[in-house]
Amino acid sequence: MRNDKININSTAFLRAFALGACLWLLVSCASAVENPSVGLADMLKPTGGDSSAEINLRFNGSNALNFVYEQLAMGPRTSFNAKQLPLRDKLCEKLKALGFEVAIQPLKGAGGMGNGVDFYNVIATLKSPVNSKLKVFGAHYDTIPIAPNDPDPAMKAVPIPGANDGASGVAVLLEAARVIAERKTELKHSIRLIFFDGEDFSTGGENMLYGSKYYAANLSGDEIKSIEYFILIDMIGDKDLNIYQDINSVNAYPQLTAHIFESADKLGLKGFISRTKYRIFDDHLPFINAGVPSAVLIDFDFPYWHTLSDTGDKVSADSLSQIGRLLEYLIFNN
Ligand SMILES: [Zn+2]
Repeated sequence: MRNDKININSTAFLRAFALGACLWLLVSCASAVENPSVGLADMLKPTGGDSSAEINLRFNGSNALNFVYEQLAMGPRTSFNAKQLPLRDKLCEKLKALGFEVAIQPLKGAGGMGNGVDFYNVIATLKSPVNSKLKVFGAHYDTIPIAPNDPDPAMKAVPIPGANDGASGVAVLLEAARVIAERKTELKHSIRLIFFDGEDFSTGGENMLYGSKYYAANLSGDEIKSIEYFILIDMIGDKDLNIYQDINSVNAYPQLTAHIFESADKLGLKGFISRTKYRIFDDHLPFINAGVPSAVLIDFDFPYWHTLSDTGDKVSADSLSQIGRLLEYLIFNN
């Protein structure tokens, strides 16, 4: 199974290479081999949970799991055929009710297979009265309209449920939004949550990441300077949670990834492994290329990736809770 996963990963990147995705090429000048030494000194610190920090955390993994099932009940949320719109509207409604300023960003001029398709990012901001600098967190809310990795050839053209690949990241951000709103008087930074559309429109670099490419390309210089960091979460609900450091994130901004994994270590989170494994092509790359300190948290050891078996039973409240508690800790304790 491990070899299968690595093959899937290699295939995806070979495809990205073959299609000449500009973003991929921008990052491919870095070493293609794993680089576990980067940031190692920072990580060689005593292990053990920070119990004083743990006590204050309010993120609830069961709430997040409920949000996963709420999305699954909507069916596939594909930007293809505008099946993502009910979720877009549901996100706006929930975030506004929590007191966030919510904006829908329509994407214009998508190229490749997205040409002529309507994509919409959802951007939710909660300003701190004491600091306008933004900590930004993101996840994609669309799901892929095909199942290219499904073992059954007859099912490869069917849209996936997207419990882990799609719903898990959205669910963690939504439960985090509840906690952020509840603790807003404690905020030391302003917070922005971005729900990207068109991440999983299709395979191949030029047919993916529509929302994040558009968002990052339209940031002004001042807006880029106003971002403390950007952390993307994607496929973080797997019951068997294994989050390695992403080679692209470590190569670009080693201190941010080190900071995230040190925090996970302080919280005693078992799903985090402080070394690199994969080079991840995802919504954080447009931010890295725009000069925003960025990192992705993703469990790429997910055997059901882009198959019809990416269903709710593969996701656990405990895994969602590990990510959510980490985000809460990064927001309120750092
Ligand atoms: Zn995907």
